[in-house]
Amino acid sequence: CGIVGAIRANHNVVEFLTDGLKRLEYRGYDSSGIAVLQDGKIKRVRRIGRVANMEAAAHDKGVNGQIGIGHTRWATHGGVTEPNAHPHISGGKIAVVHNGIIENFEAERSRLRELGYEFESQTDTEVISHSVRHEYEQNGGDLLAAVQAACARFHGAYAIAVIAQDNFENMVVARMGCPLLVALGENETFIASDVSAVIAFTRQISYLEDGDIALLNANGFVKLLDKNGSEIQREIKTSGLSL
Ligand code: GLU
Repeated sequence: CGIVGAIRANHNVVEFLTDGLKRLEYRGYDSSGIAVLQDGKIKRVRRIGRVANMEAAAHDKGVNGQIGIGHTRWATHGGVTEPNAHPHISGGKIAVVHNGIIENFEAERSRLRELGYEFESQTDTEVISHSVRHEYEQNGGDLLAAVQAACARFHGAYAIAVIAQDNFENMVVARMGCPLLVALGENETFIASDVSAVIAFTRQISYLEDGDIALLNANGFVKLLDKNGSEIQREIKTSGLSL
C-alpha cells in the first residue's frame, strides 16, 4: 500500500503517478487508482489487480493533467472491489487517497450521513473525502483549513493526499502514523509514501512528521503546520538511494 501525488507546472503527471505506484508495488496491494484534474474536472481511473492494468486503462481514456494523486490499496475496511479502490471522491469536488485506518469511521459516517452525504463504498477512507468537502464548503474554499479541521476529528493512522476540483495549483497532504514525504523538483513537487517512488524525478526530500499538514504547490511548500498547528519548516535532505 502506498500513495503518490504530483503538481508539475509543465508536465503531465500520469507517467509519474503510474511509475511511482509500480515502484511501491513491493509494499503489497490488491488494487490501484489515480485521479487527475483535467479540463476542470476530476478524472479517475481505478482497477483491481496489477498497476499495469490501471495504467493501460488510464492510457486508453487519455487521462492527463498537471496535478494528481495515486494509490495502491491494501484493503482493511471493505472488500477488494473497484468502488472501494481509491481515490475516493466527494461530489465531484474533493479527491482523496489514504493509507492507514480511520478508527472512528463509523461515528464519522453517521454524522456525515445526517448532514446529507451519500456513501458509495464500504471503506473507512470515504469519511475523509466527505468530511474534507464539508469543511471546504463551510470555510469558503481553504483546502489547508479544510483538511486540518477534518483531521482533527479522526482517530487512527493515516497518510493522505487531497486535491480539489476547483484548485489546479494546490495539494494538501497530512501524516499521522504512516510514512509520507515531499520531494522538491524544478517547478514540480511530488509526494510519496516511500523515496523509491520519486528519486527518478528528484532527490531533494523532506520527510513529514506525525501531525504535519502541508499545503503544496509546484514550487514546494506554501505552508507546513505541525501537530500544534504552528507554522514550521522541515529539513530538506538529498537522497543518495540508487534506483
Ligand atoms: N483503510 C483503507 C482501505 O481499506 C486504506 C487501506 C490502505 O492503506 O491501503 O481502503
